[in-house]
This record gives sequence, structure tokens and C-alpha cells, in this order.
Amino acid sequence: MSARILVVDDILPNVKLLEAKLMSEYYTVLTASNGFEAIEVAKAEQPDMILLDVMMPKMDGFEACARLKSDPTTAHIPVVMVTALDQPTDRVRGLDAGADDFLTKPANDLALFARVRSLVRVKMMIDELRLRDETCRELGFEAGYTDIADDMLKGDVLIVDDRASAAQGLADTITGTLNVTCSVVDNRDDAIARMRAEPSDIVMINSSLEGYDGLRLCSEIRSHPNARHSAIVLMVDHNDFKTISASLDLGANDYVMRPVDDNELIARIRSQLRRLCYADRLRDNVHNSLKLAVTDSLTGLYNRRYAMPHLNALIDRATVDNNGLAVALLDIDSFKAVNDTYGHAVGDEVLKEFAARLRVNMRGMDMTARIGGEEFLGIMPETDIEGASVVAERLRAMIAAKPFPITHPERDSLDITVSIGVAMMSPQTMTSDALLQAADEALYRSKREGRNRVTLASAPVAA
Ligand code: GH3
Ligand code: MG
Ligand code: MG
Repeated sequence: MSARILVVDDILPNVKLLEAKLMSEYYTVLTASNGFEAIEVAKAEQPDMILLDVMMPKMDGFEACARLKSDPTTAHIPVVMVTALDQPTDRVRGLDAGADDFLTKPANDLALFARVRSLVRVKMMIDELRLRDETCRELGFEAGYTDIADDMLKGDVLIVDDRASAAQGLADTITGTLNVTCSVVDNRDDAIARMRAEPSDIVMINSSLEGYDGLRLCSEIRSHPNARHSAIVLMVDHNDFKTISASLDLGANDYVMRPVDDNELIARIRSQLRRLCYADRLRDNVHNSLKLAVTDSLTGLYNRRYAMPHLNALIDRATVDNNGLAVALLDIDSFKAVNDTYGHAVGDEVLKEFAARLRVNMRGMDMTARIGGEEFLGIMPETDIEGASVVAERLRAMIAAKPFPITHPERDSLDITVSIGVAMMSPQTMTSDALLQAADEALYRSKREGRNRVTLASAPVAA
């Protein structure tokens, strides 16, 4: 996977060394020699990842990282701190500044490349979500998310470890500081069963389980569809870079080394929660925008924009399956008079009630849409002409049978009727437009012949 990586270091030979290593793996390398320049390049070039030196004059790496992470145009770019410092407190400071990892200089190649691959992979996924979110915004939908404060982060953690007291210690540390629930299982089967039934947000796996390969478990969990959004954190022995790099390639998102430093553990879990929460919000926002784009806000039915292409898809499917497909076009009778007499708000009430009755009187596989002001469409797959006319007649009757409740000082209900035109898919009506036009002609006859009635489109003349 190719990616653009920004290397930041004030000492030129360090930059050159990392640049050479990364270029040998076919990454494109950008460089900067101080914090200010790093921020500038990151904003302008939008690299896929930043390798950031900690000790630099004027603005150190912690400060640069914090600034990058608090700027919405660069916050999503993964940052790895590269440093000669190797105290847990330094790592925690970096993670707290928003860094995704901490590598010690000279960087271990195995750890470096595995980390780069893993972060680039996650970033590609986030980029895709950001792009969809961006598209939604261009289409006029509001961003559904805002920055989430760290103390609002929530989640659940599953610890897979067969050393009961160590596992309980981890759980206590995590639940003592973060707003998460923790549970512990001590073997592979229970872990898999749990992730299938109810996937946890984060799974922490002991790489050296008795009698089972922790790396294998990592890969099994990662490849399960239910767990594809979960974060996997591996617990490994100190400086076991071979296992670390293998786990990152197998889809682990992070690791902690034993002996586990409590603060570092918390910082790493928190950073996974932050990422999960960000991705969730992007996903939700796209989902909600899509829903808004295809539904009519007054009635909650599908709108015309969705119904027409969907009807074409249903026509294609019915053709392939050699099934009947019927449409019913419904137009409320003398609706203008409702508005004129009782006001637009009452008109809206009638439309809502009409939609509700339509919805409950059609099958789950049928589709209902509002395709015009007081014009509705019912699409009935796998339906022949007899079936369609029975449904249409039932719809007509259930509209006329019971008055529509309204909110008005002079009266509390109105008699409403509907005219319906029904048409069948045929060789002459193989597009949504042609099929709707046939239904519209039938509907027009219903209107002309006195309203409150159903008309079937005349059977097509055999070709
Ligand atoms: P016909 O029986 O021939 O169908 O007569 P009609 O009055 O129902 O038909 P017409 O097409 O003349 O009027 C439709 C009315 O529907 C006019 C329009 O103001 C009203 N309308 C369209 N959209 C809405 C809406 O969202 N809310 C309300 N309250 N009225 C709407
Ligand atoms: Mg009408
Ligand atoms: Mg009309």
C-alpha cells in the first residue's frame, strides 16, 4: 500500500536515514526540520502519516503533535513520535498529546514498518469515511458530529488472558480511570463466542496464552465480520518486536509491552476509544444523511428521488425472475379544497395520516413513496393484475371508510377519498417512466369517472 509520509527531525542525518528506509519500501517521503514547518507541510500536503521527532528547538514534538491533533484539518493524520527518550512518562506524554505510537531511536525497522503499514491501513478506512461525510455535506446535510471530549468516551473492553490475577489487575486499572466496562475470558473459544455474539469495542489479547497462539486469535477475530470495527490490542513481552510487527500486520491496532505501565495502558486504550468514536460518528452521519436524502420529511415515506431509480431496479429484477410487478398511483381527491378550507397545517395532517394508512396496508416487501404533493406510489413486486387490483381496492376502501382526524376549531375529522390507477409491468412499460405513465393514465380515468375509484391500465396490445 503506497502512502505519503512526513518525516520531521531537526537533525538532517536523522531525516535522511528515515527517508532512505521508507523510500526503500516505496513510500513517498516529505520532510520538515521543525515543528512549525511540520504543521505547515501537514496542512498543505495532507500526508498519510507523520513521523515526528520529540526534541526539536523552539517547538518540541509534544507541542507540534498537540497542535496537529487540535486542528480539524490535520487531526485525522496518524502521528508516531520518534525519540531517544524511552521512559513510560515520555510515552504517556506523547500519547496524551494525541500521538498514535512512540518509537525509540534508532527505530527498529521491523517495528517501524509494521507500525507504518498498520496506521496507513486504518487511515485509508477513515479517509473513505471522511470522503463520504464530505459528500454528504456538499449535498447540504449538516455534519452530525462535533469533537468529543475525552471524558465523554465510552466503550467496553474484553481481556483475553489466562493469568487470572494479571487480567483482573488490568481490568481494575482500566475501569478505575476510564468510563468503560471490562470483562475477562481465559481461552480462545470463549473469546470467539463473545466477539460473535456481542463484539466488544476493544479486545486485549495476551500474545502468550497457554495452549493457544495469541497471534492466531488476533487474526481470527480480525477476520470475523462482526468484529470488523473493533480495536485489537495485543499484550506482548518487552521489546518483542517480532510479535509486535506480526500482530500489526494481522490487523491488531496497538500493543502494550509487559510489564504493563498503567498510565501507558490507559493512554493507549483512550486513543483507541477516540479513534473508534470518531469513525462511529462519521459512519452515523453518513447513514443519517443518506436516510434524509431518500425520505420525505413530512411523511417518512421514500421520496421520488429514491423511488424512481429503485423502481427501475425492481423492474430489472422482475424481468430476470420472470415475476409480475404492479404499481399503484394514488392521488388524494380534491385535496386543494382541504388546504383552502382548513389551512395548510390541516392539509399536512391529512398527508401524514394518509401515508400511515398506506404503510400499514401494504406488505413488507412492497415499497411506498410520496412522489408528489398529494401523490403516492405503491410498488408491488411478485404481484399479478388480480392481486394488484385487490390491494388497490383495499387501499381505496380503507381511506374512505374512516374519517381523518384533524386539529381545527370547527371540526375534528374530515372525510377523505383517493383515486387510484394501477399498471402492470409489460414489454411496453419496461422503465419507471413508462410504467408510471401507464398508471397515470389509469388514474386520470378514475378522476374523470367520478373519483374515489380504482382503474386498471388497459392491458397492453400484444406485440
Ligand atoms: P384532484 O381530485 O383532481 O386530485 O384535485 P386536487 O385538489 O387534489 O389536486 P390539485 O393538484 O389541484 O391540488 C393539489 C394540492 O396539493 C395543491 C397543493 O397546494 C397541495 N399540496 C402539495 N403539497 C402539499 C404539502 O406538502 N402540504 C399541503 N398541505 N398541501 C400540499
Ligand atoms: Mg389530488
Ligand atoms: Mg395531484
